[in-house]
Amino acid sequence: MSFLKREDPEIFGLIGKELKRLQNQLEMIASENLASLAVMEAEGSVLMNKYAEGYPGKRYYGGCEFVDQVEDLAIERLKLLFGAEHANVQPHSGSQANMGVYFSVLNPGDTILSMNLAHGGHLTHGSPVSFSGKLYKVVHYGVSRDTETIDYDEVRKLAREHKPQMIVAGASAYPRVIDFQAFREIADEVGAYVMVDMAHIAGLVAAGIHPSPVPYAEFVTSTTHKTMRGPRGGFILCQERFAKVIDKTIFPGIQGGPHMNIIAAKAVCFKEALAPEFKTYQQQVVANAQVLAEVLKAEGFRLVSGGTDNHLILVDLTNQGISGAEAEEALEKAGITVNKNAIPFDPKPPRITSGIRIGTPAVTTRGLKEKEIQQVGEWMVAVLKDPGNGALIKDIRAKVEKLCQEFPIYKELDTLFAA
Ligand code: PLP
Repeated sequence: MSFLKREDPEIFGLIGKELKRLQNQLEMIASENLASLAVMEAEGSVLMNKYAEGYPGKRYYGGCEFVDQVEDLAIERLKLLFGAEHANVQPHSGSQANMGVYFSVLNPGDTILSMNLAHGGHLTHGSPVSFSGKLYKVVHYGVSRDTETIDYDEVRKLAREHKPQMIVAGASAYPRVIDFQAFREIADEVGAYVMVDMAHIAGLVAAGIHPSPVPYAEFVTSTTHKTMRGPRGGFILCQERFAKVIDKTIFPGIQGGPHMNIIAAKAVCFKEALAPEFKTYQQQVVANAQVLAEVLKAEGFRLVSGGTDNHLILVDLTNQGISGAEAEEALEKAGITVNKNAIPFDPKPPRITSGIRIGTPAVTTRGLKEKEIQQVGEWMVAVLKDPGNGALIKDIRAKVEKLCQEFPIYKELDTLFAA
């Protein structure tokens, strides 16, 4: 019996359609994942009712006995997961986690040195359309033209020239390992803080597959919904000496009441990430991305930086005569969801782009391994080489649906949403 169905059949119907979409399509957007039913149950629980401004043991509301325990568990698990001195689990999003760090130790007009959005950085790393670009002086580093990897010599040169107060490492579309130690050394030369935004790779870091930024950065921020596979949200890790200022900046500085249901779901996600299976999962995520990279390369597709070390691939479609926007649309029709994405030095505008970003976290969650990924890669190639061929796309769509049925997701929800 669904309370929602009785109360609001329109929203119930749309959730049912979204469930079917997820079940019958291959989700290959690099920043998305499929959280467990346990995570979703915590998020949809009575905890959503609770106001709990403040922190455990120091709230501005009564009735916080149990939510205090929830937040303490989330904090302890998160600190254990990443070996951090202090953790704040209240940021509503990755963007707010980044804002929380900037507002803690920077003044308006200070200089941030960060990765160019057009080369894989994030909006909150100083884009002119974001608060970060409006409040701070922003200098960008990027990738080098020849290797398409971060040019640490350029980072050093820019740091010496502009003397930033903060250097930001981390990206939304960068397929290679980031050298956090190099960022630390450069920052030390010029007396800058290091903030690492590990939103994309946090799951890999938790599993020990990508080097951890924690030993090298005063501040580490993340989302919890990408490779971490938790609820939508953010967190901040920092050294103990910054604990007070970070907590004060998040509340009351930039947020009001924490979302206790989300914090509970984050705690569940951190528990899942501490389990040995999470490491196996992350290893498979990377193995799948590497298989996909090989399939695409073998068929003549050019990959930015030549391949991947992590969960994502950035494909340059220039030599295929198709834009990122066209590729996204054709693949969507075939039941494979990706996003158009600028490639470094992209001559095309951001709404068109020359590239697509493909990620393996969600398809790995539903159980796809090398064999299936090889097949999916071949379907992608067929669609991208002949995007106007309706019959071919229809045929591949049917094959995608069959594969999805062999690797079901959220089947426990079927009875609830059955017509
Ligand atoms: N940081 C990075 C590197 C990201 O890729 C993203 C999201 O795409 C964010 C921060 C922002 O996260 P949110 O969408 O939760 O604000």
